[in-house]
Amino acid sequence: MSIRELDEAFVAGTYRRFPVEIVSGHGSVAVGADGKEYIDMGSGIGVTSFGLSDPEWVAAVTAQLSRVQHTSNLYYTEPCAALAARICERTGSKKVFFGNSGAEANECAIKVARKYAADKYGADRHVVVTLKNSFHGRTLTTLAATGQDSFHKLFLPLTPGFRHVAAGDVDELSRAVAGGDVAGIMIECVQGEGGVVALDPDYIRAVARIARENDIVLIVDEVQTGNGRTGALYSYMNFGITPDVFTTAKGLGGGLPIGACVMGERVAGVLGYGDHGSTFGGNPAACAGAISIFDRLDDELLDGVRRRGELIRRELSGADGIESVTGMGLMVGVKTKKPAGEVVTACIERGVLCLMAKDKVRLLPALNIPDDVLMSALSVIKSAAK
Ligand SMILES: *Cc1c(COP(=O)(O)O)cnc(C)c1O
Repeated sequence: MSIRELDEAFVAGTYRRFPVEIVSGHGSVAVGADGKEYIDMGSGIGVTSFGLSDPEWVAAVTAQLSRVQHTSNLYYTEPCAALAARICERTGSKKVFFGNSGAEANECAIKVARKYAADKYGADRHVVVTLKNSFHGRTLTTLAATGQDSFHKLFLPLTPGFRHVAAGDVDELSRAVAGGDVAGIMIECVQGEGGVVALDPDYIRAVARIARENDIVLIVDEVQTGNGRTGALYSYMNFGITPDVFTTAKGLGGGLPIGACVMGERVAGVLGYGDHGSTFGGNPAACAGAISIFDRLDDELLDGVRRRGELIRRELSGADGIESVTGMGLMVGVKTKKPAGEVVTACIERGVLCLMAKDKVRLLPALNIPDDVLMSALSVIKSAAK
């Protein structure tokens, strides 16, 4: 059996894979089983922040693997503590809970909001407001948080206690919290899976104000937008707001599973012994890799992300067959005249891997993609869109 046949026979059919088997990679180039090289404009959905088999990350992970690969959370390990300290130092946050994915990070954030409200106001105050067109994960609770009915319908009943409002409508949000039953508000500053849609900055600031005025826990889902992706360390920093909780995952680990729920002053004491846990969370190898990523997200790197993002916008905006370019930094949505799937398939044939988000081509290249490699990929995307 070919790998493709084996996979189709035995792996749950939840993914429609492209006809490419990747066997290795270096930087922003992925290599197929047939030896064909692809420019990687997707980074494994925004995960491999410094590219494939990035030597610094590989060295950090393998050094840790040869010491100890896992201990459980019954014992202290250095990478877990050191990563939490770094995240807190750079963001002014106070505590980090580590899980293994974005969905788990969001589950933790929802627990924090509910417990904060229950401790202070009683259990009736438990609703979490999220936005229509959002995406927060695939567990039953984070699906309930996700404001897209298409994800819900086959899995009802979902976790109760979520309310979805239209992004951009401040009055609707005010009405949604007016009953006094809201524990948390959760937003993505740039809706990734929803089509790479950046929220209006004034709206984001209004959300933060409404949360503060009503003592509601403000959660920013930075699973996709975080760790330099938008040109700021975390996307909320682009808008001059400070959430009570932010969650992150994807690009933090550089390729190993990790999720983090990062808590600010107001909620730092909400979780106590036994309130939450994870067998794998804070895994030393994952954390060692994450430290090697996080330590490189300095001002120079972030400037480079913004500069490359502008380059993409300049190259693609107004090109033949391209209707619009959305997003921030190296999180880019491209609306093409042709169906996005057709463009992505044509790109693969021509040696470029792109993602999709709703009806758009989505680009999440490595944060350090070299300019010449990026320009080659953009010329392929333009020719595929034409
Ligand atoms: C990908 C994503 C998630 C889910 O992350 P998983 O690691 O797949 O659980 C949650 N929120 C946002 C904004 C995402 O982009």
